Amino acid sequence: MSSFIEVECPNCKNKQVVFSNSAVEVKCEKCQTVLVQPKGGKSKIIGKVISVLG
Ligand SMILES: [Zn+2]
Repeated sequence: MSSFIEVECPNCKNKQVVFSNSAVEVKCEKCQTVLVQPKGGKSKIIGKVISVLG
C-alpha cells in the first residue's frame, strides 16, 4: 500500500509531503537531510511522520 505522508525534518523541522513508496531518496528541500530512504520496494521514513494523507 502506498500513500502520501507529511513528515517533519528532524534537523530543521521543515514539514514536507512525501510519497511513502518512493523508489528514490527524498531529501528535505530546505536543508537536504534525507527524509525517506528506498528499501527494496518499501521506504524507510527517517523524519517524524506528522500525518498520512492517503
Ligand atoms: Zn530540513
